Amino acid sequence: MSSYDIIIIGAGHNGLVCACYLADAGLKVKVIERRDVVGGAAVTEEFHPGFRNSVASYTVSLLNPKVIDDLKLYDNGLKIVERPIANFWPLDHKRYLKLPFGLEKVKREFARISPRDAANLEDFYDTLEVAADALRGLVLETPPNVGGGLLDLWRAIKLGGRLNKLKLENQRLLLDLFTLSAAEFLERWFENPEVIGAFSFDGIVGFYGSPHTPGTAYVLLHHAFGEVNGKKGMWGHAIGGMGAITGAMARVAESRGVSISLDAPVKQVVVEGGKAVGVELEDGEIIRARGIAANVNPKLLFGRMIGDVAQLPPDFRRRMDVWKCGSGTFRMNVALEELPDFTCLPGKELAEHHQAGIIIGPDVDYLDRAYRDACDYGWSQNPIVEMLIPSTLDDTLAPPGKHVASLFCQQFAPELEGGRSWDDAREEAADRIIETVNLYAPNFAESVIARQIMSPLDLERTFGLVGGDIFHGALTLNQMFSARPMLGYADYRTPIKGLYLCGAGAHPGGGVTGAPGHNAAREILRDIR
Ligand SMILES: Cc1cc2nc3c(=O)[nH]c(=O)nc-3n(C[C@H](O)[C@H](O)[C@H](O)COP(=O)(O)OP(=O)(O)OC[C@H]3O[C@@H](n4cnc5c(N)ncnc54)[C@H](O)[C@@H]3O)c2cc1C
Repeated sequence: MSSYDIIIIGAGHNGLVCACYLADAGLKVKVIERRDVVGGAAVTEEFHPGFRNSVASYTVSLLNPKVIDDLKLYDNGLKIVERPIANFWPLDHKRYLKLPFGLEKVKREFARISPRDAANLEDFYDTLEVAADALRGLVLETPPNVGGGLLDLWRAIKLGGRLNKLKLENQRLLLDLFTLSAAEFLERWFENPEVIGAFSFDGIVGFYGSPHTPGTAYVLLHHAFGEVNGKKGMWGHAIGGMGAITGAMARVAESRGVSISLDAPVKQVVVEGGKAVGVELEDGEIIRARGIAANVNPKLLFGRMIGDVAQLPPDFRRRMDVWKCGSGTFRMNVALEELPDFTCLPGKELAEHHQAGIIIGPDVDYLDRAYRDACDYGWSQNPIVEMLIPSTLDDTLAPPGKHVASLFCQQFAPELEGGRSWDDAREEAADRIIETVNLYAPNFAESVIARQIMSPLDLERTFGLVGGDIFHGALTLNQMFSARPMLGYADYRTPIKGLYLCGAGAHPGGGVTGAPGHNAAREILRDIR
């Protein structure tokens, strides 16, 4: 007799979402988390006495509105506020670019730099919205499974039908987005390197590559399908940090009868007769269930948590060995004495640019060079830094008058060459990041009271993000949709009966969306009821 219907390995937001849906359907669910806190990469922690921050993921847009509604997250304490403007780019000591919300405002802003590019904005936005809408329609779908049965055939026909309904030009557009580089795609509308850089930034967030790397156009789109409070394409802040989202999810789960264990690392999935029947914890305890859903990176699950690898087909194992993980992310949290005073837009008093995503990465060549340098030296002397100062929107995070900032940095080699460990390089890289911000805001370095550093290796150790990959695996064409995590296993099921994947390594991939957890729950319920 099983103790539980389903055990979920990991209390990341997708594990919690999956648990909520399963419990709502009447199943007895247990969530088992390695850390002493729920939330996975969507978590708020005190990183210095009196200073709290979303220490990994830090901004909301992709969280699916259906998940928000179904879990009644707003009734459970979640409040998301909108940023007054999306982004702010210091371009040099005199010039800057802001990305406000609303087409007319953006046009006015961009016209200061390139009237020609500003004139093309509307067409670009319309095009991106067509593609984002197509993607929104797919995120809560189970992709058709290649080689699957009748249900998959039906899914493929439905998908084919839906794509066929798109105008031919829009079908071409989707093909472009899945295959082109962000820069090549953007060059169809824009010519100014600063404008192309501004828009291609989203194409290299969480992707170890240059804006010229094929496939980055899709990554750009992946960051565009979200919304905040019903406003499409907007990014916002959860009051209390990202942990407020997962805290609300955990409260909902527990109110639906889910049991959550913390500080309980799972060592392996227990497989009997080819079926997953439980988990063994690091301390040797075995907990049994009718099925297991893994919220962890697929490489972690199949590479380290299946005791007897003979349970996995050899071709599956070989493919999983080459599952591409490593988004090239370096993350810091800093406690600040005062707000940065930018030479291009002076002032330490709170202004709207302090409440934006502040991006150090002034043009497309800078973004490209950062990747090339990372390939050669591990990271660039001119790194790409996005700084967000959430305490400008939320007074729960820092003492009065002080601030916390997230520094989200791209193009840091997942592994360093020559056997060098990130443990030996993390301080040096962190110094370079602070110095880089300081070039644009000369009071910055002095204002840092404390810093928390997370190299790709730290991200792996702390959150189980293999290779520091923020998405549980690159969002490349061969690792997306019906191929996520692998052709033949895109329906949240795995080669082991009763073992499911419910995290970002499954469709539609990473980001705080709740979508893989939502979709996996639907498939689990199909099997188990
Ligand atoms: C630095 C960084 C910045 C990001 N910024 C953003 C952003 O601003 N906005 C956005 O939308 N997305 C962002 N992301 C991406 C997003 O946070 C992730 O893709 C998403 O949180 C993945 O959610 P998940 O629930 O699938 O997995 P995870 O959040 O990775 O959760 C997996 C859980 O499994 C647990 N676990 C691991 N091993 C075991 C074990 N052996 N036993 C038990 N439990 C285990 C982990 O501790 C973790 O709690 C960012 C990610 C990072 C790392």
